[in-house]
Amino acid sequence: MRTPIIAGNWKMNKNPQETQAFLEAIKGKLPETSVVESVIAAPAIDLNALTWFSKDEPLKTAAENCYFEDEGAFTGETSPKALSEMGLDYVVIGHSERRQYFKETDEDINKKAKAIFRNNMLPIICCGETLEQREAGETNAWVAGQITNALKDLTAEQVASSVLAYEPIWAIGTGKTASSDQAQEVCHVVRETVAKLYNDEVAGKVRIQYGGSVKPANIAELMSKEDIDGGLVGGASMDPESFLQLVNFKG
Ligand code: PEP
Repeated sequence: MRTPIIAGNWKMNKNPQETQAFLEAIKGKLPETSVVESVIAAPAIDLNALTWFSKDEPLKTAAENCYFEDEGAFTGETSPKALSEMGLDYVVIGHSERRQYFKETDEDINKKAKAIFRNNMLPIICCGETLEQREAGETNAWVAGQITNALKDLTAEQVASSVLAYEPIWAIGTGKTASSDQAQEVCHVVRETVAKLYNDEVAGKVRIQYGGSVKPANIAELMSKEDIDGGLVGGASMDPESFLQLVNFKG
């Protein structure tokens, strides 16, 4: 049985004061983590507030990125070791915005996944196709390739505990959601890819999220699909009421 995991991705939004106000608004209203794991991925400057809050509340915390070295002369980067020491649970890696604007490659993402495990956190690894790739019928092969490259040399145990997020780029921040059948089809491809690389047991354990204009109105329908175990949510995670509706979705 895979525990549903709904993660907000704030992107480059909210300062520490706004973070505090958001946390006050959701206090005491999150489901237990054994029912639904509620996660917030926030900018590095807001993570201290999140980790303090998570000591008393059923919130899991995520960084939106990290570097693949633990420390050193890498000005401006965020250390996975320091994130782990702060008490972070997850790090989102391979988000399409990082691939597109910061030219992150599959190889970088694989190195980051290893750094995250080395530091006792778990990765949320994103994949997804462009509209052109979808229209050219390349989606399944592209996504399978991204997953294969991201998981290179990871152990079965590591992969079983990972979260994989399928996010079609054309649906991110556009208001255009993939239909639940489209989302299910590609999430199934992701699970099949894990089964081929590892085995059915690992594929049965890994949790797969769909991301791309998820909102309170469509979360239940998406979550009803066999291979969709959660959502990675940008815009609709910014407002506390909307975030609460997402994590308290009725299946
Ligand atoms: C995201 O930030 O990963 C995302 C899917 O954004 P949105 O929900 O706004 O489409």
